[in-house]
Amino acid sequence: MSCAICGRAGRGFGFTARREGAARQAACSMRCLDILNARGGAVYDLNHFEKQAIEAASEKAGTYLEEIGKTDLATLTREEWRQLLSTVFVAATAQIQRLTDEDAVPF
Ligand SMILES: [Zn+2]
Repeated sequence: MSCAICGRAGRGFGFTARREGAARQAACSMRCLDILNARGGAVYDLNHFEKQAIEAASEKAGTYLEEIGKTDLATLTREEWRQLLSTVFVAATAQIQRLTDEDAVPF
């Protein structure tokens, strides 16, 4: 089950809202679990977060490609490709976590 806040793999943390019929939601970390608890469960419009996460990941991906001096993805080695994907994944999930911090949540 994926984390209800950032979408990473849930790792044993869980939250169930105190309302009848509420489903158990997973969290990847104490940080995301705290966010779930503070909000009474995840009921976010993730598209808003996802768009901003993609922007953050795009910048990091560009920086990585500049560092290795390649712009043609077909020329990446298997390890370079994995590193690019890792860079994008970590940047996107970190941005979603930043956006869900107390002061940044728009609701
Ligand atoms: Zn999470």
